Amino acid sequence: MADHAARPVRALVSFDGTERCDAAVLEPRSRQALEATLREHEQVAIRGSGLSYCQAGAAGGGVPSVSTKALDRILELDRDAATITVEAGCTVGALVRHAVENGFWFPVLPGHPEITVGGCAAFNTHGKTQHDVGQFSDHITSLTLLHPDHGETVCGPDEQPELFQLTVGGMGLTGWILDLTLRLQPLAGGSIRRRAHRADDFVDAVEIMERHARPGSQLYSWNDASRTGATFGRGVVYEECFVDEGDAATTRFASLRPEQRGRLVPFPVWNRLTARVVNAAYFQLEHRRRERTMPVLDGAFPINGKEGYFHAFGRRGFHEYQVIVPRADWADAIERTRGIVRDRGACVTLASLKLFRGDPHHLWFRGDGVCLTLDGPADPRTHAMFADLDELAVDLGAPVNLAKDSRLGKAAASRIFPGYDAFAAALEAYDPARRFDSELRRRIGV
Ligand SMILES: Cc1cc2nc3c(=O)[nH]c(=O)nc-3n(C[C@H](O)[C@H](O)[C@H](O)COP(=O)(O)OP(=O)(O)OC[C@H]3O[C@@H](n4cnc5c(N)ncnc54)[C@H](O)[C@@H]3O)c2cc1C
Repeated sequence: MADHAARPVRALVSFDGTERCDAAVLEPRSRQALEATLREHEQVAIRGSGLSYCQAGAAGGGVPSVSTKALDRILELDRDAATITVEAGCTVGALVRHAVENGFWFPVLPGHPEITVGGCAAFNTHGKTQHDVGQFSDHITSLTLLHPDHGETVCGPDEQPELFQLTVGGMGLTGWILDLTLRLQPLAGGSIRRRAHRADDFVDAVEIMERHARPGSQLYSWNDASRTGATFGRGVVYEECFVDEGDAATTRFASLRPEQRGRLVPFPVWNRLTARVVNAAYFQLEHRRRERTMPVLDGAFPINGKEGYFHAFGRRGFHEYQVIVPRADWADAIERTRGIVRDRGACVTLASLKLFRGDPHHLWFRGDGVCLTLDGPADPRTHAMFADLDELAVDLGAPVNLAKDSRLGKAAASRIFPGYDAFAAALEAYDPARRFDSELRRRIGV
């Protein structure tokens, strides 16, 4: 029997609260226990922190989820090579704290410190630096993959590159990533200085971001899309850079778990009225706070400390839409989006932008353009709004972030992603038995 902490079958819920299934969660505590667990089960779903908005780490139907959380060691920091090797269950919070304590920085950080490094590789995540340094995969020098039918394989950009490209952004479907070696940067300062620039609307926000996009800058915006008149998308662009002040490593990271959904706030607080009021107040507060300087780890994760926003959707949860719109189509796309939000009478609680670059590949969330994020409560109006946005995405050839989506089926995914067929064929060739499974895999039909 495998030496792992087995837990009884329980309800697992996606971070957005809308996909549920029952599964046992197994937590191997050693390499031997992991191998035994993978041998014992014909199929498993690999689970990191469970912070994907969809069920990417659970499958239901008797397939257990195998958690990476006990295999989370930081194995080596090589100062000369400026690399760090970690097990995939290590959180990005632990990774960047260790890097900072040793005078380094890791430049591709998703929104929350509880996300694991394995989860970042599996969705090839991005941070607020995408326009500058690209995706997570651009900073991996190599990774070790374990598949019960193929054994252990080391791959990277220069070694077995096809397997590497299938595994990063491969949604945990090619095998268990045991460890990864990541490239670090020298830490350019103990603090982050955040400047806020007022934006009149979504078009203005992108122009401001483009003016401030330079090497080393971190850029993102908060926009108010709860009003569909002339002020649609007014907001604040945040421009961040390192400055050499302050104590770098004092920050405490907050916890965030999908199981918390509905426990702290059972009923939804967000509706069209509260979204308007809160967004208006937030805008007044933020665009006046021109400049703030904070310890570098405080500035690392924009959502750390703001978890209440997600809890306020209550047990019913929410949906997020994240799409990369080609720059040339931006103004038209925003006008269409405004019409969709208005006509559907939908409640948009949050909107945000980032600048993106790169070519599409497989089912990766990568492309040249503007990354638009919209959140709304899980209700029929949000559903209808996002279905309309799917049509916009197809028309524009705009990739949608599968890590943030819990609705797209096979028909829509295969139309949205030019790399869909190539990914499905490569996965079929590598793992025909679907030893690694998930609700997400079944929903999008790969
Ligand atoms: C508040 C918040 C902010 C976010 N901000 C961003 C952002 O700015 N940018 C961005 O790109 N994403 C962002 N995300 C999405 C998040 O980065 C991804 O969904 C990530 O995959 C979640 O990782 P996890 O550790 O929670 O893993 P899970 O959600 O449990 O799993 C995610 C995927 O990783 C696979 N996986 C995990 N470990 C391994 C392993 N060892 N080997 C193989 N596969 C593995 C799983 O099978 C699954 O397919 C955000 C999510 C939240 C909740």
